[in-house]
Amino acid sequence: MSILIRDVLLKDKTTNIYIEDNMISEIGGPKVEAEHVLDGKGKAAIPGLINTHTHAAMTLLRSYADDYTLQEWLTNNIWPIEAKLTKDDIYWGTTLACLEMIKTGTTCFNDMYFHGEVAAKAVDEMGIRGVLSEVFFDLFDETKGEKGRKKVESGVAALREYKNGRIIPALGPHALYTVSGEGLSWVAEFAEKNDLIIHFHLAETEKENEDFLEQHKKRPAAYLDELGFLGANLVVAHCVWLNKIDIATLASKDVKISHNPQSNMKLAVGNMLHYSDLKEAGCTMSLGTDGCASNNNLDMFETMKFAALGQKLFSDDPTVMPAHETFGMATVGGARALGINAGDIKEGLLADILLLDLKKPCFTPNHNLTANIVYSANGSCVDTTICDGQILMEGGVMEGEEAIMEKAGSVAGDLVYRGQ
Ligand SMILES: [Zn+2]
Repeated sequence: MSILIRDVLLKDKTTNIYIEDNMISEIGGPKVEAEHVLDGKGKAAIPGLINTHTHAAMTLLRSYADDYTLQEWLTNNIWPIEAKLTKDDIYWGTTLACLEMIKTGTTCFNDMYFHGEVAAKAVDEMGIRGVLSEVFFDLFDETKGEKGRKKVESGVAALREYKNGRIIPALGPHALYTVSGEGLSWVAEFAEKNDLIIHFHLAETEKENEDFLEQHKKRPAAYLDELGFLGANLVVAHCVWLNKIDIATLASKDVKISHNPQSNMKLAVGNMLHYSDLKEAGCTMSLGTDGCASNNNLDMFETMKFAALGQKLFSDDPTVMPAHETFGMATVGGARALGINAGDIKEGLLADILLLDLKKPCFTPNHNLTANIVYSANGSCVDTTICDGQILMEGGVMEGEEAIMEKAGSVAGDLVYRGQ
C-alpha cells in the first residue's frame, strides 16, 4: 500500500510525506498520487511514540487498587488477582492496551507479562508494534526455574512464527528479588545466542537495594556486571535508586534506561531518575508508562509531561530536561533502546507516524510545537496513527473500538469477581 500525506507540518515546514509499504520513501518529493491520500492541512506529523515499559494486560486492573503502599499494593491486591488471570483475560487486556496506545499515539511498546503468545495475537490483530516478553522468575527455586525456562523458550519460538516484523520476541526476567543469579545468567546467554532484547526491573525502591546489599555485600549493578548480564541489549525500567558508580557501570555497558515517572510518583518510591547524571554518563534514556494499575493510563504525552516536570522539581532547576530532550526520549531514545528503525520521520525509516490535530485549544497558539507536545497536549490530540505503513486510526476513531471496550470491560468485571 502507498500513502501520501499532503501539506503536513513537519519540523517547522509544510511538506508531503510519501509512504510505500511499511517505509517512509520520500519527503517533500514530486509524488502526487498514492492509493491513500491524507490531507495534512492543520496537522503536524511526528514520529509514533515508543513506550519502553509496560505490562499491557494490566489495563484490566486500571483503578482496581489505588492509594496503597507499594508492598500492600503488590502483595495484597495485585498478586492475588494476577493469580486468577486466564489467557482470555490477557488477550482482551492486551487488545484494550493496544487500542489505548493507538488512540494516544504510541506505535511501539516494550511489554513484560504472562502468556506472551496470547499478547502477540492481540498485537498482531491490532496492527501495532510490540517487543514482547514472557515474564520470567524462579523465586530461587530450581524446579520453578526449569518450568520458567521452558515457557520462555516455547514463547520465543511461538513469537518467531510471526513474520511481519511487528512482533519482536524479547526476554523478561522480572527483577533481582524474584530471579536467581543462575536464572539471570541463563537469560543473558539465551539472549546472546538468539539476539534478543532483555527487559528487566532495576533499583525501583530503596528497600530492594538495601536488602540486596545486605545479602550479597555488593550493589545490584556491580553484581549484574559480574554475572555478565549487562549489555547494549538490556532495557532496565525504573533505575531511580542508582548512585554514580552504578550509573558509570550501566553506561560502560550501554544499558538502556526506561524512565517511568508516573508509576514512581504514584507508588512513592522515594526518589527520581538521576537524569542529569545519566545524561552526563552518556546513557540512552527512554520513557515508559508501566502497567495500568500503577499509572493508570498508557498516554505517553502525559508521561512526557510528568517526566519533565518531575525532573525540574527534583533538581530544583527548571532548565533540566527541556522539551526537546523529553520528546527525544519518547521517540529516538525508545527506538534506540528497542533496536527498531524508527523514532524519527526520515526517508528509509519505518512508517510509524502520527498526525496531530493542531486545531485544538492546547495547540493554540503554536509558538513552539515541541513545547506544546510535551507541556500542553495529551493523547486525545492524536488524529491519525500510522504503524508499519498501515493507517490504524483516522479522524480520532479506530474501527471496532466500542466493541473492544465493551468486551474488555466485561472480562475485567469477571476477573475481579473471581478474585473475591
Ligand atoms: Zn513494571
